[in-house]
Amino acid sequence: MPKSYQGHTPRKRFGQNFLVDEQVISQITTAVNPQKNDTIVEIGPGLGAITEELVAQCDNVSLVELDRDLAAKLQARFTPEQAQVYAEDALKFDFNRITEAEHELRIIGNLPYNISTPLLFHIFSYNHHVKDMFFMLQKELVDRITAPHNCKQYGRLSVISQYHCDTEYLFTVPPHAFNPQPKVQSAIIKLSPKPLSSLPAIEPAHFSLVVSKAFNQRRKTLRNALKGVLDDGQIADANVNPKLRAENLSVDDFVRLSEQYDPQRNADQETD
Ligand code: SAH
Repeated sequence: MPKSYQGHTPRKRFGQNFLVDEQVISQITTAVNPQKNDTIVEIGPGLGAITEELVAQCDNVSLVELDRDLAAKLQARFTPEQAQVYAEDALKFDFNRITEAEHELRIIGNLPYNISTPLLFHIFSYNHHVKDMFFMLQKELVDRITAPHNCKQYGRLSVISQYHCDTEYLFTVPPHAFNPQPKVQSAIIKLSPKPLSSLPAIEPAHFSLVVSKAFNQRRKTLRNALKGVLDDGQIADANVNPKLRAENLSVDDFVRLSEQYDPQRNADQETD
């Protein structure tokens, strides 16, 4: 059982690894550079390691914390003018409750590693309201999100993330910056949603299907990995060589491939 820290026993099921290294905390706030009129949402503020600094610099801070004990502590510590506390699950949180303005939200979080990927996908659906995001994630995940094509770490998460956002690896954070210490290295990533007007149109379900199928069998050529989804002619029509493998394709290649997918034509060939 982990030791109590600041009167709270860290809960493993909520992925609680509290930041304790002052230098890392200040590196994060320097990267965010909060301005007085920014609209900031912190996900999983925990014991408020990063929050303190955000509240000091910015007038409009909202906190989404699933652990009711921690949410109560935050409510006692900050006035509603300093920070609005939502004792809720970030995975289900409706970010439109905070703003419906375009590209306004700045989202920050030392995220619970067990829910990082679903949380990113949830937030991507609000992307047109988001200005930027700064997340602490498992380093390996940050490597995957930022990986360029033709690289071993490049996969489904890279393609979906890079379709929606510009991604930037900021810095690595060692286990001893936390209490309790995680077993893995962590890293801070900055994600900046692309303006909707600059995104190539996709049918999200088709894009997701093509990308998933291509990477499910990433050692195979596209021709084989996409059997039942796209045939050679369709792959060629997307201007992609069917002998390549998923990791060789850029995000734009995947966009063009997904445009070729025709659910009608594939209805009787679908395997799953
Ligand atoms: N930001 C703090 C705490 C990080 S630990 C710090 O850096 O010290 C991760 C935090 O996310 C914990 O406070 C945990 O309770 C919270 N959390 C876990 N799952 C959550 C969810 N689904 N929604 C919102 N918060 C969650």
